[in-house]
Amino acid sequence: MYQNYVYRCGQTRPHTSATLMQTRAAHQPVADLLVRRKLEAAGVRPTRQRLDLARAIFGSGDRHFTAETLYHETRTIYLAPALGTIYNTLSEFARLGLLREIALYDAKVWYDTKTGPHFHFYFEDTDELSDMPDHQLPEIEITPPEGTRVAAIDVIVRLKKV
Ligand SMILES: [Zn+2]
Repeated sequence: MYQNYVYRCGQTRPHTSATLMQTRAAHQPVADLLVRRKLEAAGVRPTRQRLDLARAIFGSGDRHFTAETLYHETRTIYLAPALGTIYNTLSEFARLGLLREIALYDAKVWYDTKTGPHFHFYFEDTDELSDMPDHQLPEIEITPPEGTRVAAIDVIVRLKKV
């Protein structure tokens, strides 16, 4: 017996374009505590380097980024993490469900702080990824093969300027 699966996206929140510098504002002690709790809840030992990266990742609301983005943003941190450390930390965070991995057709992997189901627009001209607004979300009905279930549906709509 096939079971139909109707996929509806959750609420989307607008992404902020806040930079790392803005996360280093007056509320840092509170933000630090929240970030530390987030890591501990996911079973991550909050080392200084993981905390530095987690602050840069989660300190400014939902966002999409690559390892390279984070590398450039974290150059001002004392003992700035190496690119290899950033790659490892991102893949660890994704494995633990703190981040969602989004693979495009090129070799680059994007990360999303919003881990629930939602669809994306990819702007090819500017190399930017953003959430598809709620009112544009398509409803997709999938009948998975017998003995399987739909674990996730990833939709990336690639856009070009006209
Ligand atoms: Zn997203």
